[in-house]
Amino acid sequence: MQILYGFVLAILIVYLAYRAHSLDKSGAVAATVVGTIIFGIGGLEWSILLLTFFITSSGLSRAFKRRKVGLNEKFSKGNERDAGQVFGNGGLATFFAALHAFYPESILPWVGFAASLAAVNADTWATELGVLNPTPPRMITDLRKRVEKGTSGGISLFGTFASLLGSAVIALPAILLSPAGKFSTSTFLLIAGAGLAGSLFDSLLGATVQAMYYCPRDQKETEKHPLHTCGTETIHIRGWKWLNNDWVNFACGAFGGLVALVGIL
Ligand SMILES: [Zn+2]
Repeated sequence: MQILYGFVLAILIVYLAYRAHSLDKSGAVAATVVGTIIFGIGGLEWSILLLTFFITSSGLSRAFKRRKVGLNEKFSKGNERDAGQVFGNGGLATFFAALHAFYPESILPWVGFAASLAAVNADTWATELGVLNPTPPRMITDLRKRVEKGTSGGISLFGTFASLLGSAVIALPAILLSPAGKFSTSTFLLIAGAGLAGSLFDSLLGATVQAMYYCPRDQKETEKHPLHTCGTETIHIRGWKWLNNDWVNFACGAFGGLVALVGIL
């Protein structure tokens, strides 16, 4: 029965997000699947965590839309999240919710769920708020090297702080609503730290093995493929071709979840 409530809640929220242009059609279908499983299996506590992620991250994207117009071509997608982005950000969280159905007594699915959401939230916050850093970011693999804002693998003090804040925004309700029922500062720090670690791992992949392309017309590096925003076909210049932004987001959540699970054992 709870699955049915989960489905109704998911449809309602997805409809609003679709109307607000936070999701495209494929993203709406994917988010309905993710929402139904997480709301339906997890119930209230899991729903609150997922919604905290969804509302704050799409809210930030919206708030900084204009500021980023010039940078947008660097990012592979606009503000409407498609199915790849939804599964990249929420696929692992959905897996942990499903795991909870099989092991309802275990705290581990909750910790993995919270930490993977903390990681993708940290990453989104860093991306959206990092552009406010007054100076250009530095490459995570070579901190002496300055790169253009929006470059994959670029980090800044402000962006890292935003990342920690985005992680903490998930970690706090995660321990307050924890099914284990006890408030613990160390678990809060563990989940918040795991989220930050996931987000830094995301930057590391962006600097090293993530697929990067080049637009010959604009003479710019981009994540966009096969076509750049200008309509020109982009050329692969480095990284693993299959490792697009969606898989990097997935890896970000997986790394965060892993760090928290190892830390709690
Ligand atoms: Zn171009």
